[in-house]
Amino acid sequence: MRILITGGAGFLGSHLAESLVNQGHTVICMDNLSTGKVENIAHLMGHERFAFIKYNVCDYVHVEGPLDAVMHFASPASPQDYLDMPIATLKVGGLGTHKVLGLAKAKGARFLLASTSEVYGDPLVNPQPESYWGNVSPISPRGVYDEAKRFAEAMTMAYHRYHGVDTRIVRIFNTFGPRMRPNDGRVVSNFIVQALQGKPLSVFGDGSQTRSFCYVDDLVRGILALLMISSDKTVEQRTDRKSFLTKQNGDQDSMHDPVNIGNPRELTVLDIAKLVLKLTKSSSEVSYHPLPADDPKVRRPDITRARTLLGWEPQVGLEDALQKTIEYFRAVLARPASI
Ligand code: NAD
Ligand code: UDP
Repeated sequence: MRILITGGAGFLGSHLAESLVNQGHTVICMDNLSTGKVENIAHLMGHERFAFIKYNVCDYVHVEGPLDAVMHFASPASPQDYLDMPIATLKVGGLGTHKVLGLAKAKGARFLLASTSEVYGDPLVNPQPESYWGNVSPISPRGVYDEAKRFAEAMTMAYHRYHGVDTRIVRIFNTFGPRMRPNDGRVVSNFIVQALQGKPLSVFGDGSQTRSFCYVDDLVRGILALLMISSDKTVEQRTDRKSFLTKQNGDQDSMHDPVNIGNPRELTVLDIAKLVLKLTKSSSEVSYHPLPADDPKVRRPDITRARTLLGWEPQVGLEDALQKTIEYFRAVLARPASI
């Protein structure tokens, strides 16, 4: 397949690009490098089946030649990044998603949207199944990301239903691993870097809020399974618009509906801090800071649908995954001017 990955120089995009190139596919990576780094894809540069285009996907997107798939991963992703870039976040979720859906339609390519567990907001249901509509404030600081992704999902479903584009939506839950930026502000990278540097681990609030962490290799395997699964209802839904109008809200009936991918092992933030201290053998203290506005109190994926539809579930245990990530950050911090 010839595949365009937007956001391909970022953490997840670069892992997807590498995996697809290794499987024999051709990858075009498009990225404006706002939070991504060329270093993430340096090992792919010069490969005959890899190309990089520095570009903002909010502008008219043109790609020479045929495309079999478009994977839309461009977006600031860590709370620190999207709170720093609120308007760019809304634009890439809105205008950017529209542009790349237009490209997928023009090329007859399959389209996969990187959505997020943040569409569930501060959930009142735990764990979260895909049928849960969420609890999101459109006007809170986090709303820029949550609403951009909710709009992107709506736009993706509209292109599927109205134009017959063969679409997929993955709702990604907290994922970590090598190539995260040491200073991206996410909890796992913050805690590991702080522990390795002997600084206090910055727990926000009392640390009782929960998250469920997936290792990047597991996530990539799940996303590629969703990308590759063949389509069933695309033509039927394009020719019978009435069928989607009469579909019951919340019905989940095809691979075009969103799929949660994440690890269902749920921990408190304080538990993660303790685990990082144990695995790094650090003697750092824990320091407490105010909880950011609208920080979700719980988060855990219901992965029944991924299990049934894709036969997917995570395989890498949390301790192993943290150990691999700790080794990565140890190496990064040993390099001069790494932060
Ligand atoms: P990242 O910041 O490492 O990667 C995002 C990439 O998008 C960066 O390389 C950035 O430069 C690029 N980008 C941003 N705006 C762009 C634009 N307008 N045009 C072109 N490129 C642009 O973040 P990530 O963790 O790799 O996240 C990738 C995707 O997965 C995002 O869409 C994010 O919302 C989603 N996601 C990630 C997680 C996670 O835990 N990592 C969880 C849920 C959803
Ligand atoms: N968090 C924390 N200390 C940090 C960074 C984050 O306690 O240094 C908390 C944050 O308040 C949230 C959880 O860890 O409850 C996960 O935060 P992250 O930014 O990784 O992602 P989120 O799940 O909020 O998008």
